[in-house]
Amino acid sequence: MLKVYNTLTRKKEEFIPQEPGKVGMYVCGVTPYNHPHIGNARPFVTWDVIKRYFRRRGYEVRHIQNFTDMDDKIIRAANNEGVGCEVITDRYITGYFAAMEQLNVQKADLYPKVTEHIPDIIDMVQKLIDRGFAYELAGDVYFRVEKFPEYGKLSGRKLEDMQAGARVEVDARKANPMDFALWKSAKPGEPFWESPWGKGRPGWHIECSTMSLKYLGETFDFHGGGSDLIFPHHENEIAQSQCCCGNYHSFAQYWLHNGFITIDNEKMSKSLNNFITVPDILKLYPGEVVRFFILRTHYRSPLDFSEERIKEAQAGLLRLRTAYDNGNAMLEKAGSAETDTELAETADRALADFYGAMDDDFNTALAIGYMFTLAKEINTYVNNVVNKQACFDKVHFQRLMSVYSEMAAVIGIFEGSLELPAADAEKGMAAEAIEALIAERAEAKKAKNWGRADEIRDSLKAQGIVLEDSAAGTKWKRA
Ligand SMILES: [Zn+2]
Repeated sequence: MLKVYNTLTRKKEEFIPQEPGKVGMYVCGVTPYNHPHIGNARPFVTWDVIKRYFRRRGYEVRHIQNFTDMDDKIIRAANNEGVGCEVITDRYITGYFAAMEQLNVQKADLYPKVTEHIPDIIDMVQKLIDRGFAYELAGDVYFRVEKFPEYGKLSGRKLEDMQAGARVEVDARKANPMDFALWKSAKPGEPFWESPWGKGRPGWHIECSTMSLKYLGETFDFHGGGSDLIFPHHENEIAQSQCCCGNYHSFAQYWLHNGFITIDNEKMSKSLNNFITVPDILKLYPGEVVRFFILRTHYRSPLDFSEERIKEAQAGLLRLRTAYDNGNAMLEKAGSAETDTELAETADRALADFYGAMDDDFNTALAIGYMFTLAKEINTYVNNVVNKQACFDKVHFQRLMSVYSEMAAVIGIFEGSLELPAADAEKGMAAEAIEALIAERAEAKKAKNWGRADEIRDSLKAQGIVLEDSAAGTKWKRA
């Protein structure tokens, strides 16, 4: 029986799909205004494993993941570079897909964008106004939280407490300080769309309600994201969707949230200079290592990123991969007997254990533990046949290997190379990778994106690479 921890009920529940044999999932995607950092990658790797697992268990999965391609941060980035918003969003959407491909993250069925769904969003906002759940204020539209008695049910907050904690400078025009924007009137110089309330653009939360309704229907199975999205984003999505549909039991049935990532036990932040982007980390470690590092910890637990821990993950993955390669090499040889029936029993037991772990709220940490057990069995068997000239029961060994491959396919490993194409292991970071970063930094400086320029200098410094700027350009050396 598959059990999942539901943030909404705060307990593990048996998974019962809306429609037998089918799973609908909506995952909040990225705001493409910069490269994803390592914390952003965690939910996508997590959802990828969950999706792989469902497919392996025979479910038909429909996975929708949005791009928030209109947002204050995108507008700011576009203004800084003097380009249109779509130049920024195209660049970082491309970057997102490139990073995910290296992490073996399979594509969603659909990646709806806000800018392509404005009429749907306007319809939904209008419906909420018509039903008395929203009101217009000088070109802005707000959701009236007091009209939804269950507001706060996901995050476990009470409206009274939230109001008491609201900051003094909240907009006094609003009926309740917690009322949130569904539609924002355009400020001068901002992109806008025409609407019944004048020129403006959608608030952040409404897009996910609109897109999940459009592509998954009023009620679907999973909604997920990082735990930082529980409040206000997901709380507001629930309010909008359930009020629009007129059904407090509609919308997502299971809410899954992954834990935070810390860097060397500290919170990740630009000011601490420990902000690690996925493209930067992928210059140092193969994508599969980063993926494996993420999945060695259960998705709800906090995950600490440190050089030591990612090196451990690298060594662990290499051990699993070596057993896989050795086992497959064995299968090239001719078999000599069919006597080792216990091999098949070992395989079946390992698979049952593995599925048991995955059935327990997708416990990849435990499931990977069972892969290590099986890897040991494979190594021992290969060693006995090769070095001790034991009989080779190819039929039963094949069963063992197919179970091992099945596990790997769920975890999403053994799909890429464990070599860094450009890196020179002896010298640390490869010259090409350093030059590429320096070129990117020069671009960032030209665009007056000082934050990114500093970020690159600091991340190189952390790798022992010192930059020297002069009128002739930037030179580098290894410290
Ligand atoms: Zn969302």
